Amino acid sequence: MLSINLQEEQLITLFENNPQKDIFHHDNQEEYLDAIGKVTLAVKRFLDNNKKPFSGVTPAELRPLFAKVDFDKPLPDYDSLLDEVENLYTNHAVAFHHPEYIAHLNCPLVIPAIAAEVMISSINSSLDTWDQSAGGTLMEQKLIEWTCKEIGFGDLSDGIFTSGGTQSNLMGLLLARDHYAFKLLNHNIKQDGLPAEASRFRIFVSEMAHFSIQKNASLLGLGEKAVVKIKTDRSFRMNSVLLEDAIKQEIALGNIPIAIVGTAGTTDFGNIDPLQEIGRLSTKYDLWFHVDAAYGCGLLLANKSRKLINGIELAHSVTVDYHKSFFQPVSSGAFLIKDKKFFGLITHHADYLNPKDHDHDGLPNQVNKSIQTTRRFDALKLWFTLRMMGKEKLGGYFETIIHTAAQIAAMLQADPAFELMNESDISALVFRYNPRDGQADLCAMNQFIKKSMFNGGEALVAGTKINKQFYLKFTLLNPLTTIDHVKNIFNIIKQHGNEYLQFNKTTTEFWRN
Ligand SMILES: *Cc1c(COP(=O)(O)O)cnc(C)c1O
Repeated sequence: MLSINLQEEQLITLFENNPQKDIFHHDNQEEYLDAIGKVTLAVKRFLDNNKKPFSGVTPAELRPLFAKVDFDKPLPDYDSLLDEVENLYTNHAVAFHHPEYIAHLNCPLVIPAIAAEVMISSINSSLDTWDQSAGGTLMEQKLIEWTCKEIGFGDLSDGIFTSGGTQSNLMGLLLARDHYAFKLLNHNIKQDGLPAEASRFRIFVSEMAHFSIQKNASLLGLGEKAVVKIKTDRSFRMNSVLLEDAIKQEIALGNIPIAIVGTAGTTDFGNIDPLQEIGRLSTKYDLWFHVDAAYGCGLLLANKSRKLINGIELAHSVTVDYHKSFFQPVSSGAFLIKDKKFFGLITHHADYLNPKDHDHDGLPNQVNKSIQTTRRFDALKLWFTLRMMGKEKLGGYFETIIHTAAQIAAMLQADPAFELMNESDISALVFRYNPRDGQADLCAMNQFIKKSMFNGGEALVAGTKINKQFYLKFTLLNPLTTIDHVKNIFNIIKQHGNEYLQFNKTTTEFWRN
């Protein structure tokens, strides 16, 4: 009797820890299909619920629900799991696809790219070496070649998929730093670390460049002080006369200019630095020219507006973010260089991965070009997208966005209650509500508007500061956002602005009486 009981117990333990369950493998296809199917339906419920881009939930409201979660007690099935995740997450997640979400640089997604994500995660290739990915390596490489061609780079060009703009910008500055240390000082940073002179390296950017440039300069051991910020002109584009003055001044001070970063589409204004002129200066002073086109890369595919990004082909290296302007899920970016020889600066040979003698078998190991090791097959999303839709359609969506933004800019200009701060080359509009009341603190009022909109969740806009003044910002990245959607947003802004004025009047009168 006793021995039989023991056996049963053993059987039960065996069954509970059965590796046949939970793991993705040949004999467990039913569980796989069931799980993916149920999750897809949960995403459908997310779409059905998105009458507005955000629920307005606060951390204080959500946090108590997390206290009940005990990771030591797994849930019995997917239905319970999805219930939990709906309560904690999807019911409140910000809906980037909603046409009245026009806050940050988050695009809606094209469906082929979402479908590819299922395959990317399930098969889980790692793109560092050929022996962990095979065909995936060649697919990534073909998309890199395609992107280089769209940029206008020649036969020597190359590149690598990255986690996004921050990482791509880091790679640009890393190559610039190591190249000039070698060229000017005959110093190998990869091997010997930073030379003393590195504290005098200088990188030139516009004052409107992305903050990752500074962050990366500090990560690279150059310090934030290495970044020289050049004033922009009235259109928020780098002033190239001031750029040349600054280069000369740094040389006169005994510092060592190494790079200029031009922004093709600033995060705040969507404006493009004068790339041709910067390219000319980079040649004249022998500097690395990096173009940060995290936002502006969508122009590469746009027919009418492509010319705005002309000059990008003069760069030594380029950042693109497919997850901003090619309607791809996060993460998906790339770093491209005009001459592949510079990747040699970062290649590291690990005996277990890409030993030096492997280079002679001709096996393409992408790890030689990346600062990551294990790396997602993000390229498959872009592959699905281009093969299902073609570049014309993608470019057309970007063109639509630019066109809508221009119309909205005209509306903001025509309305005396708004002050528009910029003419965007792409689709970012910075403005504020100013009903010319005479009394109102415009910063406080516009901050109130942004906060009230976020709390209400009906429409989401961003905010930014110029000269210490607070402004509202639209980033249009959804080809489905129409003039009528934006008219509705104007009304919401005015409504909250007027609430603010009313409230202030009442309280002022209260104190007066
Ligand atoms: C968003 C952005 C970045 C950073 O890209 P991530 O993908 O968020 O790392 C860099 N530069 C510009 C101009 C950007 O808009």
